[in-house]
Amino acid sequence: MSQTAPSFATLNEAVRRIAQEVAAKHADDVDARARFPHEVVAALREARAFSALVPKDLGGSGLTMRELGTLVSTLAQVCGSSAMVLAMHYNQLGCIARHHGGSPFFLQFMRDLVERQWLIASITSEVGTFGDTRSSICAVQREGDRFTLVKEATTGSYCADADVIVVTARRDAQAGASDQVLVLLQEGDYTLEQTTTWDTMGMRGTVSPGFKLTSGAPIEQIMPVSFGDIAAQSMVPYSHILWSSLWWGIAAGAHGKAATYVRSVARKNPGTTPPTAVALAELSVELQTMRHHWQGLADEFDAIAAAGTGAEELPKIGWALKMNSLKTACSDAAPRIVHGALQIVGILGYKNDSPFAMGRAYRDALSASLMISNERIAAKSAAMLLVFKDE
Ligand SMILES: Cc1cc2nc3c(=O)[nH]c(=O)nc-3n(C[C@H](O)[C@H](O)[C@H](O)COP(=O)(O)OP(=O)(O)OC[C@H]3O[C@@H](n4cnc5c(N)ncnc54)[C@H](O)[C@@H]3O)c2cc1C
Repeated sequence: MSQTAPSFATLNEAVRRIAQEVAAKHADDVDARARFPHEVVAALREARAFSALVPKDLGGSGLTMRELGTLVSTLAQVCGSSAMVLAMHYNQLGCIARHHGGSPFFLQFMRDLVERQWLIASITSEVGTFGDTRSSICAVQREGDRFTLVKEATTGSYCADADVIVVTARRDAQAGASDQVLVLLQEGDYTLEQTTTWDTMGMRGTVSPGFKLTSGAPIEQIMPVSFGDIAAQSMVPYSHILWSSLWWGIAAGAHGKAATYVRSVARKNPGTTPPTAVALAELSVELQTMRHHWQGLADEFDAIAAAGTGAEELPKIGWALKMNSLKTACSDAAPRIVHGALQIVGILGYKNDSPFAMGRAYRDALSASLMISNERIAAKSAAMLLVFKDE
C-alpha cells in the first residue's frame, strides 16, 4: 500500500534518531566483526530513507544533494560504514533517477523501490582495470531480448546483502574499454561467488570482498544512456559530494568528542582556558572549511539540476576539476582532523573502550584517499589543467 513520502525534515529527524539509538549501539560490533550493519539498514528502510532521492512524481521524497549529504553526514558521525552504505545506495539511485531516459522499466523500478525500500549496491571495480572505473574488461553479451554478463569484481560493498546491484561493463564484445554501459541486476538475475576476504583496517561494516558475478536479464535493464555520460553527470558528483559529506561527518564526530573533552577539563578548572582549547579552535577551522567545501558544491549541483542544465554544465572541465579537488581535499582532511582530535583527547581517545575512543573513526577515515586513489585523481586533474583556463 502506498504511503506519503517523508519530507526532508522527517527524514533528517529519523536519521538523527537512528544514528543515536541504533548506530551508536551496534557500530563497535559491526566494526569488530566486519559485519553488515543490519540493524541500521532495517531502521533506514523503516524510515523510508532509501527512496529519499526518488523524484516526488514517482512517489519518493525528491531530496536535493545538500539534503542527502546532511543525512549521510549525520549517520557518519556515529558509524562510517552505515553511512557509506547509505551514500553508495544514493549514488546508484541518483544515476538511475537522472538517466532513465523515460524507460518504462526504470520508471517502474523507482516506483517499486519506493514501495519495497530496496538497497542498491554497485560493482564498478574489476580485476585487471586497476581502480579505473572508466574502463571495463567484461562485456554485455546480447542474445535476442536478453543479455548475459560475467564480471570479476575486486571490491563489492554489501553485495551479499543488497536487493539490487548496478554493474559497469563494455557495451558489447567489440566495444573499447571505455565504451561502457550501466546494467541493473535484481534478485534472481545473478549469482555471486565470493573470491576474496574483507578483513580491513576500516570501513569494515561495508563488507566489500571480491566477487565473481554471473548474470542474465532482459535487455531493458541496460541503462539507455552511455556510462560515460552517467559518470560525468551523476556518478562522479553523487559519489564525490556524498563521500565528502560522509568524511566530514566522521571528522565532525571526532571533533565533537574532542570538544566535549575540552569542556569537561574546563569545568574542572573554572576561570581558566585549557591549553587544548586552542588546538580545538584550530581544528574547528579545518572542519568548517571542509563543511563549506562539500555544501558549496552540493548547492551548486542542486542549482544546475534545478535549472535542467546538467547535460551542458556537468561534463565541463571546470566542474570535473571541482569534483576532483573536493574528493582529494576532503579525503585528506578527514584523517588529519581525527588525528588532531586524538592529540587533544590524548590517551582517552587512544583507548578503544573509552567514550572518547577515536580508533574506528581514524581507521574508517583512512579509506577515503584510497576509494578511487587520490594519486589517480590528481593525474587526471593534471591532464585537465594543461588545457583548462579558469574564467
Ligand atoms: C571501503 C571501500 C568500499 C568500496 N566499495 C566498492 C564497491 O562497492 N564497488 C566497487 O566497484 N568498488 C568499491 N571499492 C573500490 C574502489 O572503488 C576502488 O576501485 C579501489 O579502492 C581502487 O583500488 P586500488 O587501490 O587497487 O587501485 P588503483 O587506483 O589502481 O591504485 C593502486 C595504486 O596505483 C596508484 N595509481 C593509480 N593510478 C595512478 C596514476 N595515474 N598516477 C599515479 N599513481 C597512480 C595509486 O596511488 C595506488 O598507489 C571500494 C573501496 C573501498 C576502500
